[in-house]
Amino acid sequence: MMSVYWNTRIRGLSPYVPGEQPQDGKIVKLNTNENPYPPSPKVIEAIKKAADEKLRLYPDPACTEFREAAAARYGVKPEQVFAGNGSDEVLAFAFAAFFEPGRDAPPVLFPDITYSFYPVYAELWGTPFRTVPLAEDFSIVVEDYLVPSGGAVIANPNAPTGLFLSLDGIFALAAYLEQQGRVLVVDEAYIAFAGGGRRCPADSAVSFIGKYRNILTVHTLSKSASLAGLRAGFALGDQALIEGLCRVRDSFNSYTLDRIALAGAAAALSDAAYYDGITEKIIKTRGRVSAELEGMGFTVPPSSANFIFVRHPRLGGREFFAALRERGILVRHFDRPRIADYLRVSMGSDGDMDRFLDACRGI
Ligand code: PMP
Repeated sequence: MMSVYWNTRIRGLSPYVPGEQPQDGKIVKLNTNENPYPPSPKVIEAIKKAADEKLRLYPDPACTEFREAAAARYGVKPEQVFAGNGSDEVLAFAFAAFFEPGRDAPPVLFPDITYSFYPVYAELWGTPFRTVPLAEDFSIVVEDYLVPSGGAVIANPNAPTGLFLSLDGIFALAAYLEQQGRVLVVDEAYIAFAGGGRRCPADSAVSFIGKYRNILTVHTLSKSASLAGLRAGFALGDQALIEGLCRVRDSFNSYTLDRIALAGAAAALSDAAYYDGITEKIIKTRGRVSAELEGMGFTVPPSSANFIFVRHPRLGGREFFAALRERGILVRHFDRPRIADYLRVSMGSDGDMDRFLDACRGI
C-alpha cells in the first residue's frame, strides 16, 4: 500500500520484517531465537510486585535500578550504562547519535550478512552505509574495515551465522576507529552463548570500554535472560557515549521503559546463577544438535549463539524450510544472496530439538 499522506522519507523505507509469531501452540517454534526456558522466578516475583497502585506514576526516567544491576553484573559504573526498550531501540538510538547523516557523509560499515535491522536504521536516519563481504566461511575479515568510514557495527556473535569474532579482532577495529574519531558498536545480543559457556562477560568487549572510549556494546534481555516479551536492552560504553544516547532518547520519549519492565530487568540481571544454568543447557543442546546434523551430512558452521545456521546436503533453503513447516517446525529463512540455502534454527528445549532432528532425518 502507498498513501499520499506519507512523506517522501517514509515512502522510501524498507522496514524490517520480524519473524512470525504463530498462534498455533502445536508448532515447534524455532524461528526468533527466543529462550525455551522460563525467566527466573525472581523476575516474575519482581514483576508481580511492580504491578501495584504505583502504576499511576511515571517510571524512573533514569532507569536507576536497572542500570545499577547491569553495572554490577558487568563491572562498570552506572554512568556507563544506557537502558532501552529492547536492544533494537538502543541500536536505533546509537545510529542516530553516532553516525553522520547526509548524502556526503562517510558510510558506516557492517557485514553483508548480519542483523538485517542495521540497514533499516541507516535508512531511517539518512545515514549512508556500505556492506563489507564476509569471507567464504562467513568469518569477518577485520582488515577490510581498516579504511576511512563513518564508523562500524559488528554483531558478535554474528547473526544469522552464529560465528564469533575473537576479541583481538574487535580491539584492532576499535583502535583503528578511535584514531579516525569514529564509533564501533558491538551488538552482543548472543554473547552469553559464546566461549563454550564461560561465564559472561568473559567474551564481551565490555572489558575494554575503559581503554577505548569509542566502543559501545549493546545487550538484550530477550535471549539469554528469557525476556523477549518484556522489551529490555542496554548499552555499555564510555559516559560520553551514554550521554549521547540519552540526548536522542530525551528528544523522543523520556519514558521508554515502564515500571514493570524496569523491575523485571533489574531482577534478571541480579540472578546470574539461574541464567548461567539455562545458558549452559542451551549450549549443550547446540553441541548435540550440531553434531547429529553433521553426522547426517548437513553443513553447520560453528555457532557461538543460541541458534545454528544449517544447510541441507541437497535441498535448497526454501524447500528445506517448507519440508520442516509441513512437519510442524518453524525456523527462519532469509532469501538473500549467499545464504538462501541456509536456515537459521533457534535452540529449543531438548524435546523440541528431538522433534526437529526427527524431521531432518525424514527430510
Ligand atoms: N541484535 C541482534 C543481532 C538480534 O538478533 C536481535 C533480535 N532480533 C536484536 C539485536 C534485538 O533484540 P531485542 O530488541 O529483542 O533486544
